[in-house]
Amino acid sequence: MTMLERHIVVLGAGPAGAAVALGLRKLGHAVTVMGTPRAFGAIEGVSARVVAGLRGAGLEAALAAVQEPSARQAHWGGQATAVNSERLVDRAAFDRLLWRALADQGIECVPAQVQRWQADDSGHWLQAQRRDDGSALSVRAEFVVEARGRWAPHAGQGLRRGPDTVALLWRGQGPSGLAPASAVESLPEGWAWMARLPGGACCLQLTVDAEATELPPRAQLGAFIRQRLQTVASAQPFLAAGATAWTSVARTSTAVLPDTVCGERWIRVGDAAMAADPLSGNGIFQSLSSALQAPVVVHTLLNHPADAGHARRFHHERVHGLFERFARIGRDFYAQETRWAQEPFWAARRAWPDAVPSHAQTADAAPRVAQRPVVDRDRIRLAEVVVTADQPLGVWHVEGAQAGAMWRAARSAPGRETQAVAQALDCDAPRAQRLVAWMQAQGWLAPG
Ligand SMILES: Cc1cc2nc3c(=O)[nH]c(=O)nc-3n(C[C@H](O)[C@H](O)[C@H](O)COP(=O)(O)OP(=O)(O)OC[C@H]3O[C@@H](n4cnc5c(N)ncnc54)[C@H](O)[C@@H]3O)c2cc1C
Repeated sequence: MTMLERHIVVLGAGPAGAAVALGLRKLGHAVTVMGTPRAFGAIEGVSARVVAGLRGAGLEAALAAVQEPSARQAHWGGQATAVNSERLVDRAAFDRLLWRALADQGIECVPAQVQRWQADDSGHWLQAQRRDDGSALSVRAEFVVEARGRWAPHAGQGLRRGPDTVALLWRGQGPSGLAPASAVESLPEGWAWMARLPGGACCLQLTVDAEATELPPRAQLGAFIRQRLQTVASAQPFLAAGATAWTSVARTSTAVLPDTVCGERWIRVGDAAMAADPLSGNGIFQSLSSALQAPVVVHTLLNHPADAGHARRFHHERVHGLFERFARIGRDFYAQETRWAQEPFWAARRAWPDAVPSHAQTADAAPRVAQRPVVDRDRIRLAEVVVTADQPLGVWHVEGAQAGAMWRAARSAPGRETQAVAQALDCDAPRAQRLVAWMQAQGWLAPG
């Protein structure tokens, strides 16, 4: 057995693991990534925000597996719409490029299946099996980043879970030369998503309630998916391909949120921190969000122990806030389908996670000054921010001005806000005027 000692080890090399590894390296940390290739070559759809996020993370090389925007048909709640903004991604190719991008940028990449992770006062112990020669590997690490996506174990963790959902996936090869395209359609028992890449690779995805659906034996899964989609109008162009070699798999797609996403010497990022309902089509975006904020959290935990509690709170609030926001947006989207509101799939999802509106009501938006964790260059620290219903995590700076100071000054001088802000911030009148106009536009101050 090989034994290694490492500073920070990242488990998993999907978009979250890759982004966090590069972010930590930029902050001067030695990082080792341990990962295995994805088990199933799904096709997924991403938005322009993901492209920007990958570039920002130093992962632009993986964009070679991201298509230009293509047509997406939606049949939902009896309405048909067409948008032209989805970029299809061949996940197996994309993840291979992520791995290569890490190696090319000098990150130590160990192809290994992590089998066991134990922690004690002296650090972390990881047991793994190498993928290249099958040998056993034992790694001692000071800090562990859990980025194994939905495969990350949750043993001993409190969990918040959405309705149990399973995605049945079929992938095959049709003729090449057709334009890339995708379609989504609501069905009495769930929803279907279909996608086709320019090379002819085709993916059919049927998402259903795990409890209300009797699944076929593994060997019949592919036939089950194709047969169900025979009667779905928008699936027809994707079924036409006389598929040759094909594979199928059932994957859980239940929304899952662990209670704790950050400890003293470990952090969860990506789907391991919060796995949302794939309906939002934002999984990769959300994974990048938590992974891009994590390096500064880790850096604070390791280098600024006095602020460790603030760093953990920072990560926790953002991950939990993002999960709740997307859960409510998803609920509202499910509620748009009224034809089968009483069917088990729709009844459970239109009521989860709660009845709280997904967008803050402006009437609730009275701002208040509070202390919150903020990112100050390469670390997290506590600072005075302005909290509103729209911005529950707080606004720290506006155009370089401290939001708390400018809000306090403006509020204390009704009718003379510009002068008060100019005096408090020691700035000229035009700048103070711009800041007051900004506060009015946000609803912090009544319109002038
Ligand atoms: C059915 C379905 C459809 C989806 N469709 C979309 C979509 O259209 N658009 C979108 O943006 N998102 C979609 N998602 C979500 C998206 O796949 C995830 O949000 C995203 O991949 C999460 O990135 P990650 O890096 O956190 O985890 P992952 O991408 O899951 O990466 C985890 C990595 O860890 C590795 N790993 C796992 N176990 C081990 C182990 N023991 N040892 C070592 N390595 C390990 C895995 O092989 C993988 O490489 C979908 C999800 C599902 C379930």
